[in-house]
Amino acid sequence: MPETATDHYDPDCIFCKILAGEIPSDRVHEDDEVIAFKDLNPKAPVHVLVVPREHRRDVRELAEEPELLAHVATVAGQIAADQAGGDFRLIFNTGAGAGQSVFHVHAHVLAGGMLAEGEM
Ligand code: ADP
Repeated sequence: MPETATDHYDPDCIFCKILAGEIPSDRVHEDDEVIAFKDLNPKAPVHVLVVPREHRRDVRELAEEPELLAHVATVAGQIAADQAGGDFRLIFNTGAGAGQSVFHVHAHVLAGGMLAEGEM
């Protein structure tokens, strides 16, 4: 296990690899609990993913840790304030049927412009 990884490092998880520095990312925020980096395929002028350091599958698992869930929302708000004037959408795709493709919980922060209805 890499030195920087947590006890919850999953070797098959792309976001665990980003957290461990094994895959590069364009980071806009990091602290003890979460990192945030730009989405590779942005759907808005600002599209950042806020990712807890410890591997949790989805927001249902994250909700078992309310303080961490609240911290994700707080960081999302700070990023939107810093990069896009404040207003933002916060999306957790949850389950394959809802479009989740990376099963390490992440909040999509979308800001900086209106999205068409049905996008994301
Ligand atoms: P979806 O792919 O339907 O958006 P998710 O909600 O699971 O499903 O989102 C995963 C997100 O991770 C996608 O928006 C994708 O562009 C992004 N992504 C995948 N790999 C990387 C990467 N290496 N760096 C940054 N973003 C990535």
